[in-house]
Amino acid sequence: RILQVSSGVYSRWHLVSSSSSSSVPTVKLFIDGKFVESKSDKWIDIHNPATNEVIGRVPHATKAEMDAAVSSCKRAFPAWADTSILSRQQVLLRYQQLIKENLKEIARIITLEQGKTLADAEGDVFRGLQVVEHACSVTSLMLGETMPSITKDMDLYSYRLPLGVCAGIAPFNFPAMIPLWMFPVAMVCGNTFLMKPSERVPGATMLLAKLLQDSGAPDGTLNIIHGQHEAVNFICDHPDIKAISFVGSNQAGEYIFERGSRHGKRVQANMGAKNHGVVMPDANKENTLNQLVGAAFGAAGQRCMALSTVILVGESKKWLPELVEHAKNLRVNAGDQPGADLGPLITPQAKERVCNLIDSGTKEGASILLDGRNIKVKGYENGNFVGPTIISNVTPNMTCYKEEIFGPVLVVLETGTLDEAIKIVNNNPYGNGTAIFTTNGATARKYSHLVDVGQVGVNVPIPVPLPMFSFTGSRSSFRGDTNFYGKQGIQFYTQLKTITSQWKEEDATLFSPAVVMPTMG
Ligand code: NAD
Repeated sequence: RILQVSSGVYSRWHLVSSSSSSSVPTVKLFIDGKFVESKSDKWIDIHNPATNEVIGRVPHATKAEMDAAVSSCKRAFPAWADTSILSRQQVLLRYQQLIKENLKEIARIITLEQGKTLADAEGDVFRGLQVVEHACSVTSLMLGETMPSITKDMDLYSYRLPLGVCAGIAPFNFPAMIPLWMFPVAMVCGNTFLMKPSERVPGATMLLAKLLQDSGAPDGTLNIIHGQHEAVNFICDHPDIKAISFVGSNQAGEYIFERGSRHGKRVQANMGAKNHGVVMPDANKENTLNQLVGAAFGAAGQRCMALSTVILVGESKKWLPELVEHAKNLRVNAGDQPGADLGPLITPQAKERVCNLIDSGTKEGASILLDGRNIKVKGYENGNFVGPTIISNVTPNMTCYKEEIFGPVLVVLETGTLDEAIKIVNNNPYGNGTAIFTTNGATARKYSHLVDVGQVGVNVPIPVPLPMFSFTGSRSSFRGDTNFYGKQGIQFYTQLKTITSQWKEEDATLFSPAVVMPTMG
């Protein structure tokens, strides 16, 4: 069994009962192909965000357990890297099928631990599944380059080869999608992988590990440890780990980027955001308002690509009352309840932080047009709910504009022209995503070209690229050189070996020693 409770609360996700410490289910480690109970004496409670009941506990893995996990990855690496690429591809082909078959079960675990609605949780798994499907094309993606006859009898070619043991550190907000950005891509290239899921939502990763094992991934190719700072430091420092993929906050990401880089590792870090939607007066009003509301409040705003800031240009400011009406129609409820549009925030602390940021808006002169702070959800009075909130008259110097709120809060700015809007977006330190809403192609083109943000939507509010492209957040939203998934993902998890090869037909003894630098000309 993956979780001790796989036949208990985690599969009957809507029947969670409060528990004494002895009956709380515990999440196992996955070491060398076995789901094992940690010997740790330090555990972290996992809560259902809709009720705040403790539904499980996750260990701070001990040093010995983390060492065992890396040793397992290291032992498994040579054989896995040597396994034919077609066999590795077959494992992933079986894996994508098993994920599809178990998509709803993974989604149920996500809703239980993370709080998002079931439909949204299914989307979370589905977007990760798309990366797995794309990684099945590894036989084309990993092709090297060749150049025949660069000089007489000499050919040049390159291979893409795996790095060794790679590691992943994931955030709480996409419990399936983000781990699936990491280990399937790394492993299909021939690496072995050490995964540390978010300690708040470990269940989906555990089920995904079980499905990968069932797909034929050999023991040791994927290991899973749990924990927080100690586990992260362990990963950053361990000499046998060659690369780290991180997704999460700036505070953690910048620290991990620096500490991991200092130890000679490749690090890619996707971090925080403040995504702006720019609304032109010529936009299709109904479509734009629906898109804004969905992208600002969906997943309770706990998406790195949430459209959390809107700039109304010119006359589009008149749409504000209708925007508020659209937001009021959203239904806030526990994620497993039919018709729920948004669920709770992850923790009471997250709720408090979001409410404080809304307060700061009032104190600094903004207007609260819709206030979700005091929302009560019947039957879930202890949940971390905040309803859709809209703050207008916001200026770039206000705290609610500068901070990533990561809650169901839309801050609204107004400008007279597109140029002013572009200036605001480009002055913001983050560069994860942005969208423009317009029916004018030239306006859309101007915005796409001048805005300094890595992912741009034109009438598309959450422009997360499909996996044949890469996730290309920029500026303070990313540290590293090579992005997640797509061609860039393959590059991140491989290194090039270039071979210069000469086969002469003539007798080699006819040549004298070459003591000058070969020019190959
Ligand atoms: P987080 O940084 O708190 O946690 C991410 C991971 O880092 C977890 O595994 C956690 O155990 C570890 N961690 C947390 N604090 C740490 C610290 N001080 N030192 C070392 N390790 C630490 O992030 P979160 O709250 O789980 O996720 C939300 C954040 O992630 C938001 O800022 C969001 O924008 C960002 N995010 C970004 C992307 C993206 O692709 N750009 C995607 C999803 C989430």
